[in-house]
Amino acid sequence: MESPARGRADLPNSDVGVRVRAMMSELAEYAISVTREPSSIRLCGVTKRQPREAVLEAIAAGITDIGESYVQEAQAKFVGITDVSKHFIGHIQTNKAKAIVSAFDVIQSVDRPEAGDAIAKACSVLGRRVRTLVQVNISPNDRFGVSPQAAPKLADYLRRLDLEVDGIMAIGPNSDDRDTIRRSFEEAATLFSQIGGSTLSIGMSGDWREAVACGSTMIRIGTALFGARLPVLP
Ligand SMILES: *Cc1c(COP(=O)(O)O)cnc(C)c1O
Repeated sequence: MESPARGRADLPNSDVGVRVRAMMSELAEYAISVTREPSSIRLCGVTKRQPREAVLEAIAAGITDIGESYVQEAQAKFVGITDVSKHFIGHIQTNKAKAIVSAFDVIQSVDRPEAGDAIAKACSVLGRRVRTLVQVNISPNDRFGVSPQAAPKLADYLRRLDLEVDGIMAIGPNSDDRDTIRRSFEEAATLFSQIGGSTLSIGMSGDWREAVACGSTMIRIGTALFGARLPVLP
């Protein structure tokens, strides 16, 4: 039904490929400046409320991981996209667990036992395995995420459900104070070392440098790659 974008100079944010390549070199340069190995940090393109054309362009430019917050949006947009890892980064509604497990490879936002129960059940019904991350709340104004104190217990619970827990995800505080941001990410890094796994998913467009300095292995970047999000999808 849909064909890849070709010669669509009229598309909004049509310089996605340029921005992806610029972001990749900026990330590599910054990683080296804080004595990190650039290849130890993955760049996840957050494609929520961006058109499918932008997603295809980002993948053509080398993006290997994409993230979405709404399962319905992802279902429509990801049709035929098979060669990248798909990350669910939105709030988990338990009645959507089957759809989430079907559409995504990694579920980054597991923040309570009931979400784990629903995902484990969906995996067993669908005969599918997914990787999960525990979403930790490191910011007073974040609505979701398990408290840092309860995070290790939630990770144990999920592992007893036979879910693969591959690390943690957190959203930085909504603050301009670089020290506040850094302290929150340090807390996330400490928890990551306790919980284990391969993925510390911290850092977005406005705070990825602090996250990389604190050990992030995956930054989740939306607006810096794709421009402003559309109010609704076209
Ligand atoms: C939207 C979103 C992002 C990307 O945010 P930007 O500031 O646009 O880079 C990353 N992580 C989560 C969980 C999000 O919801």
